Amino acid sequence: MPNPSPSHYLTPEQDRRLRRWENCNRGYFIFAFFALIVVLVFSSQLGLSSGDSWGPLGVLLALLVSPIIVLQLRLACPACHHKIGWQAKLMAPDQCSHCGVFLRAREKPSA
Ligand SMILES: [Zn+2]
Repeated sequence: MPNPSPSHYLTPEQDRRLRRWENCNRGYFIFAFFALIVVLVFSSQLGLSSGDSWGPLGVLLALLVSPIIVLQLRLACPACHHKIGWQAKLMAPDQCSHCGVFLRAREKPSA
């Protein structure tokens, strides 16, 4: 494992890409969250969970959840292209565990 260097930051362009991923990820997560609630609340009215059949409801849930998984799996460290994957939840982690780069652009310390 390479030594993390404290002066190792992303370029502004890499940082912009990462922020875009975060916005996309967060936006979809919020959408999926509300869609999930709507689906669960109205599932009986929509006839999705009539009786013991969870089939259509299960498919809908899988359709809502799978893009979250895809988004998570698509996130790679901009510096070493190591897949960050499940290190990220809603946001990218602070640092790549593989190459040690800080997953943000260098900024002046704000007082
Ligand atoms: Zn990395």
